[in-house]
Amino acid sequence: MTVNTSAETYPASIKCSDASWFQNQVLDWYDKYGRKHLPWQQDVNPYKVWLSEVMLQQTQVKTVIPYFESFMSRFPSVVDLANADEDEVLHLWTGLGYYARARNLHKAAKRVRDQYAGQFPTEFDQVLDLPGIGRSTAGAVLSLGDGQHHPILDGNVKRVLTRFFAVQGWPGKKSVENELWQYAEQLTSKTRPSNFNQVMMDLGATVCTRTKPNCDTCPLSDKCLAKAQGRQTEFPFSKPKKEKPIKFCYMLMLVKGDKVQMYQRPKQGIWGGLYSFPEFESLNDVELSLANIKIELEDVEIDEEALFRHTFSHYHLDIQPIIIRIDDKALGYEIAEHNQLWLPLAPNERPKVGLSAVAEKLLNQI
Ligand code: SF4
Repeated sequence: MTVNTSAETYPASIKCSDASWFQNQVLDWYDKYGRKHLPWQQDVNPYKVWLSEVMLQQTQVKTVIPYFESFMSRFPSVVDLANADEDEVLHLWTGLGYYARARNLHKAAKRVRDQYAGQFPTEFDQVLDLPGIGRSTAGAVLSLGDGQHHPILDGNVKRVLTRFFAVQGWPGKKSVENELWQYAEQLTSKTRPSNFNQVMMDLGATVCTRTKPNCDTCPLSDKCLAKAQGRQTEFPFSKPKKEKPIKFCYMLMLVKGDKVQMYQRPKQGIWGGLYSFPEFESLNDVELSLANIKIELEDVEIDEEALFRHTFSHYHLDIQPIIIRIDDKALGYEIAEHNQLWLPLAPNERPKVGLSAVAEKLLNQI
């Protein structure tokens, strides 16, 4: 590969000798510095790789390790995971965020149990067909877990490739993503696909980092276009900005003695299946609901300082908590067709149920 710093990008088609140079550089680096001691790399199998890959989406390795270890000790096999209650899976996942990942993990485990007799499938299309698994995760599971030749394109790999090839455009755009897949397909080593994919993730996570790429220690620096142009942190291009809308709600926390009333949210939608507090759009709605349990809103003090913002990928939610202490004989607030529970305020007395991040934050305020 000849670096032409005036050219904007390399062509999407890579010469064989260029691909060999790239592979040799990163695989030599892997042999010297690559991560080989992560818990999911020991006695590797597709189940462990799948679990770790799902946990690692949007989350760093050091955060994932304790979660991975508790999952493996509670669910040593995919069948153990399939046989667990969803509440327990969500409970063990509490704190990792993006709970749809945990629900899909559980659904996929049941499919593996029922459709593949508990053996994690090793055909690409079968893996890709499992809930919550996209092309990159399927490639990672089968290359890292079974030594098969498949490219991957997670966030770390995208960053390395967009910089190395100075790829213009936001990688979430289909045409840009397709271009990156073409690079990944042509570069992935046929002889050492597992090590190649691992090192690409390692380089993205530890060398070609988001804000401070350490080009001096990077095995690709001699031919990296972003480095040659001094534009490393311009890549990957950001998503074109769109203002997030702001929504608002009141959250009602009824406290009786040392317990607080919670309910299980519907399976679909935000915090699906997790326990949370009743939400209301207006004070009028709060008032009507309190009337049902014979409490006057005017007797309730609302601490406006406790208002806080929780941000989702598509909007901000401003939450005004309302804490009401009721006496031992009072009934709670009835929410039809939802499981309800009186959750002990003491963390060590709580049953194993999944809580939304917001619910956890609110519990700390009581
Ligand atoms: S040379 Fe720098 S910008 Fe290029 S791939 Fe390596 S760390 Fe990333």
